[in-house]
Amino acid sequence: PRPLAGKAALVTGGSRGIGRAIALRLAADGAAVALTFRSGQDQADQVVKEIERAGGHAWAVRADSADAEEIRASVAGAVDRFGRLDILVNNAGIGVLGPFEGISLDDVDRVLWTNVRAPFLTAQAAAAHLTEGGRIISIGSCMAERVAFPGGTLYATSKAALTGLTKTLAKELGPRGITANLVHPGPIDTDMNPADGESAAMQAGLTALGAYGRGSDVAATVAHLAGDGGRYITGASIAVDGGFAV
Ligand code: NDP
Repeated sequence: PRPLAGKAALVTGGSRGIGRAIALRLAADGAAVALTFRSGQDQADQVVKEIERAGGHAWAVRADSADAEEIRASVAGAVDRFGRLDILVNNAGIGVLGPFEGISLDDVDRVLWTNVRAPFLTAQAAAAHLTEGGRIISIGSCMAERVAFPGGTLYATSKAALTGLTKTLAKELGPRGITANLVHPGPIDTDMNPADGESAAMQAGLTALGAYGRGSDVAATVAHLAGDGGRYITGASIAVDGGFAV
């Protein structure tokens, strides 16, 4: 049997990029996958179709990270749909980079609500349904570990907050047999950070491998943590960053 057969997962921001790769990988490993999006309904539907064509189960639901009601409804909907929830992947995120002085109040609210408040609320809603063997996996960033260039005050603040969330969740949920971990991607080729973008050569140059990674690289580690291989890993931060943080 496949490693995640019989399990159900919720991946936030599963319509594009890293989240899409994670949704496809967890489904390939046998999990039923619910994925959320904010505006990319068509792309989310494509991911569902791709999973169903391969014989899997998937469901896409709009859940804007800024909307606590939509977040709760997406978790409840996944549980209704699949009858259970075993794996939460907090992936949806946005980045606003630029000099500290120029970051607006609106930027601060948007980034902290999407990157911090939403993972907190989603984990809270999901934890009510997770049972022994449950997994909470959040997607941080290599910029939480190493500030290699200026301009990341807001983004790095938001991603570093996930360390506190992950470690305390690990402590609080450990007695229930539930793990919580954080995966820090390096530069990964997506809409957010295209490998042919303006600063791509600079970013690639900051990694030990000198190259961008793919969404599937991050998904492979998420799949490991989600499966039996992650049984004894909790409260950990794991870099999938080509050596960016070295
Ligand atoms: P993309 O911009 O390519 O995709 C973002 C995904 O998140 C989309 O599915 C998008 O949905 C969803 N999303 C964005 N905002 C919201 C919101 N308010 N509510 C619900 N869903 C939302 O990003 P990446 O795949 O590159 O990034 C994924 C995660 O990885 C993020 O947390 C990011 O910070 C992190 N990361 C990325 C790195 C990189 O180099 N790419 C490096 C380090 C970390 P929709 O289609 O509806 O817009």
